[in-house]
Amino acid sequence: MNRLVIVVPAYNEEESLPKSLGVLGNILQGLVKQKKVSDLSKIVVVNDGSKDKTWNIIEEFSKKYSYISGINFSRNFGHQNAVIGGLTASRNYGDVFITIDADLQDDVNVIPKMIDAFDQGYDVVYGARNERKTDTRFKRWTAELFYKLMNKIGVEMVPDAADFRLTSGRVVDQLLSYKERNLFLRGIVPKIGFPSKVIYYERKERELGESKYPLKKMLGLAWDGITSFSVAPMHFVLTLGLLTTLISFLMLIYTAYQYFIGHTIQGWSSIMVSIWFIGGIQLIGLSIIGEYLGKVFNETKARPRFIIQDNLLDKK
Ligand code: UDP
Ligand code: MG
Repeated sequence: MNRLVIVVPAYNEEESLPKSLGVLGNILQGLVKQKKVSDLSKIVVVNDGSKDKTWNIIEEFSKKYSYISGINFSRNFGHQNAVIGGLTASRNYGDVFITIDADLQDDVNVIPKMIDAFDQGYDVVYGARNERKTDTRFKRWTAELFYKLMNKIGVEMVPDAADFRLTSGRVVDQLLSYKERNLFLRGIVPKIGFPSKVIYYERKERELGESKYPLKKMLGLAWDGITSFSVAPMHFVLTLGLLTTLISFLMLIYTAYQYFIGHTIQGWSSIMVSIWFIGGIQLIGLSIIGEYLGKVFNETKARPRFIIQDNLLDKK
């Protein structure tokens, strides 16, 4: 029978974790009883450098329940790396993997459905939200815009599917073979291929604790998503540059004309405008090039994506 590993990234989740582990534990036990997964199945919580009692809670639960285990990062490495770290560390302990956030905003009742789909032969099962009732209008609107933009620049993503998904062992193997430091899972998983399915569910509001994804981090993730998969922004700058050059030719004709009809003093405002405009475009262009250069810099250093300080999996 297949061993299921549920990977749960957790950063400062002392408030939500005890309840979430109870709920996930019940789901897992249910699946074991129904003989849908092996009794060697596990929940692996990844403590992503929390500053609160998250790791203590994980240790406590792992002592009490044989099916709960955890790994402890040496510091905060971010959500994506926590998921990757969890998958890496538990790869040998499972045949099928499900990743889910610690706050259980995602519907845990989808987990058995994901397992059914896996048994039917799907290697990847995406959990996607059917509506965004619980989000603010701003988050809904920005998310929609983001998916549209990503599609336009050629990054295939499953709309409204975050990191609640099932992946088979062989997909995880492929995933871990992507050596880039800056792995944007939502973009990479569809690129791997293999039979996949989407299951829709309603996403709840966070009950306990607060979001660890403030707007700044969300924008960071979106920007990483774009720049890790596409050089479209650089093409955009090129187009902008060409356009500006064209405009400057028109300006040349215009100023020459003004000169001949004797309006030379005027034009101060147009010069001011052009200086600022061209200056702005140059700065945007430079910063985008710099951004990619920075990515190359970070990738060539090939530093570890995460550092594991304690690993309860290997102790059991
Ligand atoms: N998380 C993490 N490292 C971080 C930030 C978040 O492991 O640096 C975890 C967090 O504990 C949660 C998941 O990632 O399990 C998603 O975070 P959150 O629920 O705060 O995001 P939101 O649902 O608000 O987008
Ligand atoms: Mg959440």
